[in-house]
Amino acid sequence: MPALARPHRKETLELPPRRAIVAADTDVLVVGGGPAGLGAALGAADAGADVILAERYGFFGGNATASLVMPFMSYFTETPRPQRAGTKYLLPTDHGPGEPVIAGVLQRFVTRLIDEGGAMVPNLDTGYTVPFDPELFKHVALEMADDAGVHFLLHAFASGVVGDGRVEGVVFETKSGPLVVRARTVIDCTGDGDMAAQAGAPYEVGDNDGMVQPMTLLFRMAEFERTAFQAYARAHPDEWRGVHGLWSLVRSATATGELTLPREDILFFATPRERELAVNSTRVTRSVPVLGTDVWDLSYAEWESRRQMRQISAFLRRYVPGFEKAYLDQSGAGVGVRETRRFLGDYQLTEADVLSARKFDDVIARCSYPIDMHNPKGKGTVLKRLPPGEAYDIPLRALVPQKVEGLLVAGRCISGTHEAHSSYRIMPAAMATGQAAGVCAALAALRRRTPREIPVGDVQVELLRQGADLRGINP
Ligand SMILES: Cc1cc2nc3c(=O)[nH]c(=O)nc-3n(C[C@H](O)[C@H](O)[C@H](O)COP(=O)(O)OP(=O)(O)OC[C@H]3O[C@@H](n4cnc5c(N)ncnc54)[C@H](O)[C@@H]3O)c2cc1C
Repeated sequence: MPALARPHRKETLELPPRRAIVAADTDVLVVGGGPAGLGAALGAADAGADVILAERYGFFGGNATASLVMPFMSYFTETPRPQRAGTKYLLPTDHGPGEPVIAGVLQRFVTRLIDEGGAMVPNLDTGYTVPFDPELFKHVALEMADDAGVHFLLHAFASGVVGDGRVEGVVFETKSGPLVVRARTVIDCTGDGDMAAQAGAPYEVGDNDGMVQPMTLLFRMAEFERTAFQAYARAHPDEWRGVHGLWSLVRSATATGELTLPREDILFFATPRERELAVNSTRVTRSVPVLGTDVWDLSYAEWESRRQMRQISAFLRRYVPGFEKAYLDQSGAGVGVRETRRFLGDYQLTEADVLSARKFDDVIARCSYPIDMHNPKGKGTVLKRLPPGEAYDIPLRALVPQKVEGLLVAGRCISGTHEAHSSYRIMPAAMATGQAAGVCAALAALRRRTPREIPVGDVQVELLRQGADLRGINP
């Protein structure tokens, strides 16, 4: 355990009241520029609203860029097929061809990334994921937001809300001092629901014991020899399941003490670069919750995941063919956070909804990704797939937090159970719920209504106009 500055004193101190500059008034304020925030800003701007997109870092993308989560997970329906060993792409895949279930902003974003040479076309060999280059992601995100007329506020950490019961604006900590942006509608796309929590919206965290899916620091290895690695993968078919593998090598290195990891395998993702690989194998677990909303837990997670990263990169170089000359060229700017607050909305999505591919009249987005639970308590990852060819609906009610007006949530903090969250948390679904929240927020702002007062049919009509896939409904 590192010598962290965990507080040993518990008293509080009253701070003097302070003033903030009211920097802007806008129709829609989107807080957080990750996949959900980008979807929200582009959806709201396309619906005719004046939009500000605020982000704590100096670039957009959220986990996609700051934490090097480099493939969009599949947004295609699945069809079962025999596993193939060592595909052209990299590793075995058991994910067959299907239909895309998300379009709209995501489709435009992916197309632009591919056109810029920054992403691979999803296909059988990529397991229908979209591996991308995070630097080009940043570039495309900025350009698309700019083209849409979205105003940016970067290097702005949102620390509080203005308004009581109805959110009327957000306070930002900046180099210019505290700023307030007033908005007719605010969309919380912080992943953690920081604004919704500040506004007093009720939420849940984790499983029945409050344990959440573990944080992971991702990193990239450069100068990796793909051909040698694929030859090894083909010669050892028992060593692979999907993109997970190297069990026996991990076991041996664990026995010698070279690896001390809370997982039993290595999880890899190819990138659009021939001689590069993204490694998703650190895992921060403890006997008590490690939360991405607790600054002491975050400090611990950074320390522990960096310790594991050093072990894993050394292990790969020493034991795994293809990595002999590889080196660790980048880690995330911060540890990747999978799960924190899940807000209680007017509807809460459940595991049964996901696995039965449930349909809702107020559908605003769809998702086909499995329940994908990295064990919050230690080793193992559970995957539970939807029926072949199926997708489930995400209802607008899951984006409307209880007990607060003037606010929507989108992305990974929408209303769902711990299990359902493990499916809809993927970036394509986050972008789709973001776009829907953006449309609803724009309609609310332009009509001087709250999001809860906007008929879902109007949101669906505008989403369809923007090219969203709502499984052919006719509102
Ligand atoms: C290790 C790991 C691996 C994953 N693997 C995949 C994968 O392979 N494919 C996939 O599709 N998904 C994957 N996911 C899930 C996915 O990355 C997230 O669930 C998704 O990014 C959620 O999108 P979001 O926009 O809701 O949140 P985020 O991506 O977290 O974006 C939130 C944004 O808000 C900003 N922000 C936060 N708080 C504040 C604040 N107070 N003020 C201002 N700005 C703020 C952040 O800086 C960030 O830009 C993975 C997640 C992790 C952690």
